Amino acid sequence: ASGTIAFLGLGHMGAPMAVNLLKAGYTVVGYDPVPAAADAARSHGIPLAETAAEAVAGAAIVLTMLPSGRHVLDAYRGSEGQPGLLAVAAPNTLFLDCSTINVTEAQEAAEAAVAAGHRSVDAPVSGGVVGAEAATLTFMVGGEDDDVAVVRPILETMGKRVVHCGAHGLGQAAKVCNNMILGVSMIAVSEAFVLGEKLGLTHEALFDVAAHASGQCWALTTNCPVPGPVPTSPANRGYQPGFAGALMAKDLRLAVNALEHTGVAAEMGQLASRIYDSFVEHGGAGTDFSGIITTIREQSEA
Ligand code: NAD
Repeated sequence: ASGTIAFLGLGHMGAPMAVNLLKAGYTVVGYDPVPAAADAARSHGIPLAETAAEAVAGAAIVLTMLPSGRHVLDAYRGSEGQPGLLAVAAPNTLFLDCSTINVTEAQEAAEAAVAAGHRSVDAPVSGGVVGAEAATLTFMVGGEDDDVAVVRPILETMGKRVVHCGAHGLGQAAKVCNNMILGVSMIAVSEAFVLGEKLGLTHEALFDVAAHASGQCWALTTNCPVPGPVPTSPANRGYQPGFAGALMAKDLRLAVNALEHTGVAAEMGQLASRIYDSFVEHGGAGTDFSGIITTIREQSEA
């Protein structure tokens, strides 16, 4: 491990990811502006800087794990009197953004980094907090071959799969496409279970058929939205996440942004985004996204 990693954003995902880097022997300097996050990070043994600029000065890699693209772009370019990190970093620093953001924002961030004399890789993740803690995340990576080679061992320390998807922004593209499949398929599986209920079909019977037939998918066989067939799915613990509705709604808004940007006629993706926005508005933000079946069932009683 050579060179310091500045780790910005020590929230639900960032803190356990930073801990795994420290455990593997990397030198990490963290920063998070929210005192509660900073205190939690400190209690996990993550060394902290007072400011983002202080964390970045002297770092070889600047890893960001922030809530949104706006946060990433503001951090890179500076905002509200805060200096931009691109201006503060040593020349040729590698900016590694692991946040989930719009494809266009990732491309904009990479262009800004390159224009400032730096390097850039987008590497959003799937696997959630459980994967962050267990270092079993999947990283979807966009960037130049040489830069991806530099960050690969770092990503492999925090995850189990690293897929180089193409140029700047294409890590985000892969993430948004995958999660659009997931959002749509969870709604389809949930609708099928509720229809089965109305027709007098048991959950077990439908599962035994579909899990081994052409309806098979992750939403059914791993994250099954009804309790019983898959004992580890969130439905068995009152839809405690798992993958929270708020995060699915966020990812589908990113998908819709990409659909509109490209002009793709994806009615299912658009509809899934509206369905999950409504789920969040009606109390589903902190519920596993498979809890959408409850809404479908309720709306079916009328
Ligand atoms: P979070 O809100 O828990 O953490 C984000 C942290 O960034 C917060 O602690 C916040 O204070 C900090 N922050 C904001 N601005 C900052 C700045 N300028 N410098 C340094 N820190 C700053 O969010 P999370 O759940 O950890 O998710 C982080 C990213 O990972 C998001 O883009 C999310 O979509 C993505 N993601 C989350 C999950 C999940 O299961 N939570 C799974 C996959 C991807």
